[in-house]
Amino acid sequence: MPAPKQKSKVNDDIPSDLNIPDNYVQHTLTTQKPLPPFNWANWRDDLNWLNVVILCVTPVIGLIGALFTKLRWETFLFSIFYYFFTGLGITAGYHRLWAHRSYNASIPMQYFLAIAGAGAVEGSIKWWCRGHRAHHRYTDTELDPYNAHKGFFYSHIGWMLMKPRRKPGVADVSDLSKNPVIRWQHRHYLPMILIVSFIIPTLIPWLFWNDARGGYVYAGVLRLCFVHHSTFCVNSLAHWLGETPFDDKHTPRDHFATALVTIGEGYHNFHHQFPMDYRNAIRWYQYDPTKWFIWVCQQLGLASHLKVFPENEVRKGQLTMELKKLKETQERLAWPSDSNDLPVISWESYQEQALKRPLILISGFIHDATNFIDEHPGGPHLLIKMIGKDATTAFFGGVYDHSNAAHNLLAMKRVGVLHGGMRQGLDDKVVPPSQRLKIARYNELSSPYASSTAYSDGEGMLG
Ligand SMILES: [Zn+2]
Ligand SMILES: [Zn+2]
Repeated sequence: MPAPKQKSKVNDDIPSDLNIPDNYVQHTLTTQKPLPPFNWANWRDDLNWLNVVILCVTPVIGLIGALFTKLRWETFLFSIFYYFFTGLGITAGYHRLWAHRSYNASIPMQYFLAIAGAGAVEGSIKWWCRGHRAHHRYTDTELDPYNAHKGFFYSHIGWMLMKPRRKPGVADVSDLSKNPVIRWQHRHYLPMILIVSFIIPTLIPWLFWNDARGGYVYAGVLRLCFVHHSTFCVNSLAHWLGETPFDDKHTPRDHFATALVTIGEGYHNFHHQFPMDYRNAIRWYQYDPTKWFIWVCQQLGLASHLKVFPENEVRKGQLTMELKKLKETQERLAWPSDSNDLPVISWESYQEQALKRPLILISGFIHDATNFIDEHPGGPHLLIKMIGKDATTAFFGGVYDHSNAAHNLLAMKRVGVLHGGMRQGLDDKVVPPSQRLKIARYNELSSPYASSTAYSDGEGMLG
């Protein structure tokens, strides 16, 4: 997109969010009414016609051109190279360098990225970064210019085709206004997109292998469509497809397929959590060519101060999400009754009831062995002889040191607590192995028995 006209330069030095009210988001949403919804009555006025032409006519020219133009392999390889060249202008330049300041680039590298980024025809650096910073600050809200909650089409391209119903939330770009490279690009933006996006990719194939027409169609027009939709996928696909390994509060997601089509911007869940990290992918085997490019530039002395978020904090996010998943598993399982929920039974009553059904006392709990006598791996006789008795010693190694699985199963057969039979406190004989580590919400931890899934055994304090 060509850059829309910028407002007066008078306020460029003052951060635009310096004097906003503390309740800015709510204040803006309640005081500024959005434009009426886009519909059949207003579409002619409310379409952004310049963007419509650029985004719809380019692919049509490209497809028609491709039908009538032979693709030579030199042009094919050059088009791929040029796709990465202009794409990196956006991902390594516009996005990670300028929108997020995730590293420092030398002046030659900044010019290189500003020129390459102009070839992607996505607006000037300043305009692009202003929208992107608003996207990060107001993710998934009405003030997010590419709000993913408005659907895949809207976040991919719809937000550019129609005039926004609301202005994006305020985001400061005064740091960028001071940058001479960004000012230079802003000033010469229009000729620059013509030269970088169309003239150079026509000229090079013409001069070196005499394929001006192929260069124009494939490395110019069609390559531009690919770069457009590749980078648009960061706002659509990366907020729609994949996992949330670091946080699930908002829509950004991690997926290899998104990374593949966006030159490595597909680890978007990580990126929204740690936006100032120069990486999107944190594992060496994950596909993030933008990260590799920045790293190589650092080795060449062109980039420096590559920011990396502390690993300890990154791991915290991952652990939180892992615990959430484990808690879901925990909640899907059936657990033994808590001693507070069981009837307290006297020794006499235990004796009496044990005459009617096979009750066995272990660790202060009375268990009902009905349906299990014949299933007992050690044979029914060992259970039968313990009916109405205390089998604690025999169960815990006296006769056989039972497995953890056996202890877990035993706890499921609890039907009562022997009066005066519970030990003080909790020990390994009372708490089955499956309950010694538990996931509990922090507000369940204040009382050990606040919930049936929150034990206080001093080990499993997670939440
Ligand atoms: Zn995003
Ligand atoms: Zn970003």
